[in-house]
Amino acid sequence: MMVYCQRCGSGMPGVAHFCSNCGAAMPPTPFYPVHPLVRPHVGRVIGGVCMALARAHGWDVVVIRIIAVLGLIFSSGLFGIAYLIAWVAIPEEPLPLPGAYPPSV
Ligand SMILES: [Zn+2]
Repeated sequence: MMVYCQRCGSGMPGVAHFCSNCGAAMPPTPFYPVHPLVRPHVGRVIGGVCMALARAHGWDVVVIRIIAVLGLIFSSGLFGIAYLIAWVAIPEEPLPLPGAYPPSV
């Protein structure tokens, strides 16, 4: 995802807070995840659901995994079903093409 400076029109990654060209403040994008919700190929443990959620929201994947494990233990398997649903619902990350990473959605 790209954002464009309102002053000079330079394109920057969506996570930029200031224009790298002219230094103008970029418009805040609180409703856009910092990364599209996709299950990555690299870094996944089971289905990549924890990793996808962590990356999309900027959370620490370790925290997500601890919550997931605790949820699995204390929910008598309901959490596991939720994980399977998320596994199916969250699309797999498209294989990055050379020179085309990060993928634009
Ligand atoms: Zn600018």
